[in-house]
Amino acid sequence: MTHQRLIDLNLRVNVQSDFLNRLQPVYAQMDRKYRQVADFYQFHCTGCDDNCCKTHFHHHTVIEYLYLRSGYNTLPADKRKRIRADADEVCRKRRVADAQMLNTRIMCPLNFDSLCVLYAHRPMICRLHGLPHELCKPGAKAIQSPGCDAFFKQCQGKSLLYNQVDNLAKFDRTPFYRQIALLEQELRKTVEFKWKIKMTVSEMIVTF
Ligand code: SF4
Repeated sequence: MTHQRLIDLNLRVNVQSDFLNRLQPVYAQMDRKYRQVADFYQFHCTGCDDNCCKTHFHHHTVIEYLYLRSGYNTLPADKRKRIRADADEVCRKRRVADAQMLNTRIMCPLNFDSLCVLYAHRPMICRLHGLPHELCKPGAKAIQSPGCDAFFKQCQGKSLLYNQVDNLAKFDRTPFYRQIALLEQELRKTVEFKWKIKMTVSEMIVTF
């Protein structure tokens, strides 16, 4: 049902471009902070067997949905056709895996030869994943989480020292989540979209 509402939203008058322009600097801040922290640890993601593009990430915002779609629409038609077919297949395999309660890892349809074809438009979680970080949800204590397995192997467990690292290496996701949440709130009000979203990249693509 939500998927149909998003399709309807796609067809509406384009009032979202201002919001998408305002999302760009937030993404740029995330990317800068990520680089700063990665440099501190001297962590370089060179790919791994546990590829995070096979992770079943869910995304929850209309603004990121529309931003990914705006990037998708710039791709040549033949590429979009292939991505769309792959996204359909990923969704089908995911349904089968979910029915059997299997934690199957399936490659994101935007990953071509280990590179994201919509790198500049990738969602927040794709930008933040991998480094040790903290997050403070409203009314709750900050939660610290370790880096990914590749980080752990490459940096020999430095994430365990999170409390002791220099401020430059502290990766607090909270301001990014907050900025996206504020933009999302304003966008939803403007386009009158009140439904919850919980979608993978593949699920988004099949509605584009
Ligand atoms: S959107 Fe790009 S970075 Fe994110 S999972 Fe897909 S291929 Fe990987």
